[in-house]
Amino acid sequence: MASFICRDTGDSYPLTEIRWQSDSKGLLDITSQLLFDPERVRALSPDLWRYRSSFPLDNKSIPVSFGEGMTPLKSVSIGGKDVLMKLDFLFPSGSYKDRGASVMITQAKALGVKRVVQDSSGNAGCAVAMYCALAGIECEIFVPADTSPSKLVQIAAYGAKLTLVPGSREDTAAAAMKAAAQTFYASHVWNPFFFQGTKTFAYEVCEQMGWKAPDSVVLPAGNGTLVLGVYIGFQELKSAGIISHVPKIIAIQAANCAPLYAPFHNGKSDFSAVKGSPTYAEGIAIAFPQRGTQMMEYIRATGGTILRVEENEIQQSLTDMCKKGYFIEPTSAAVVAGVEQYIRDHAQAGEKIVSVFTGHGLKSAQKIGKLLHIDT
Ligand SMILES: *Cc1c(COP(=O)(O)O)cnc(C)c1O
Repeated sequence: MASFICRDTGDSYPLTEIRWQSDSKGLLDITSQLLFDPERVRALSPDLWRYRSSFPLDNKSIPVSFGEGMTPLKSVSIGGKDVLMKLDFLFPSGSYKDRGASVMITQAKALGVKRVVQDSSGNAGCAVAMYCALAGIECEIFVPADTSPSKLVQIAAYGAKLTLVPGSREDTAAAAMKAAAQTFYASHVWNPFFFQGTKTFAYEVCEQMGWKAPDSVVLPAGNGTLVLGVYIGFQELKSAGIISHVPKIIAIQAANCAPLYAPFHNGKSDFSAVKGSPTYAEGIAIAFPQRGTQMMEYIRATGGTILRVEENEIQQSLTDMCKKGYFIEPTSAAVVAGVEQYIRDHAQAGEKIVSVFTGHGLKSAQKIGKLLHIDT
């Protein structure tokens, strides 16, 4: 049976507990094994809940779902090569964070939770607030006082209570963790149910490729909710004998805030917070990712690497993608810039590469307007 397991001590706890860290304050993972049959999945609803038997949820739990997922996998020419892009900016709240939030809030609902707290600098807050609205769960989101206004509007519009915290992103997390002592902490960083949702990215990609894995997957790396979930998903498919190998994970950080880049390339497994300067890629501007060591472990296990992209590369990729009809967030453009760099400096000829458009441009239209010098 699946359970929570502490990454530090190996202690385990039942999944029915309302818990987001171990008794020794360590990070939790969920032990689980893949339990879906590709043959039977074919006939199920065309959304991420078709894989529900692989989620460690009680059979009686009712999905908190809009029918999200199974986003198109579309070939896009990037850096002179055809890359298969997952169009995850098409999720109901406007970012792939819905994958994790749908599964995590389903678990909260099944446990009878009436109120959750969460902290986010944007899209994770939007996703959690949206699923809480659907589930009828009260929700409080802690955000840094300088979060972009349209994301604040979106969170509040869903009916969530917004609490602005002055200071750094870490101050916001501390405030939320304090509030979480008495309630369900719907954290996309601490709560491992979130990765049980983001793992569906790997399932969908493989199913859309005829149950084959690509050679490499290029993903953003802020807190690593995709990096971690995607690794778990591919690993499960491999253990079940459905695919033959786990693709290389190529993780992209903004050069202005890249805490894992140097430690990774120096063969280290620990790292420290970076000072960081502002970046257009606000969604991956995480100075100290809690699960950074775990991310580096997983990336190494796949034979992948970490790349960093400069601000001018992000701007150029954003321009290029918008001109092709993909109105994406600047953070998503950082991933595209990473794809270009990977193709230019690392990829083999004929390599099958998958990547992702993570967030919708309407979330930061004003910022994009400035970046592209659009006068309105
Ligand atoms: C959250 C987010 C990311 C990065 O995800 P991490 O989990 O922090 O690695 C990238 N793009 C967008 C649009 C996001 O919302």
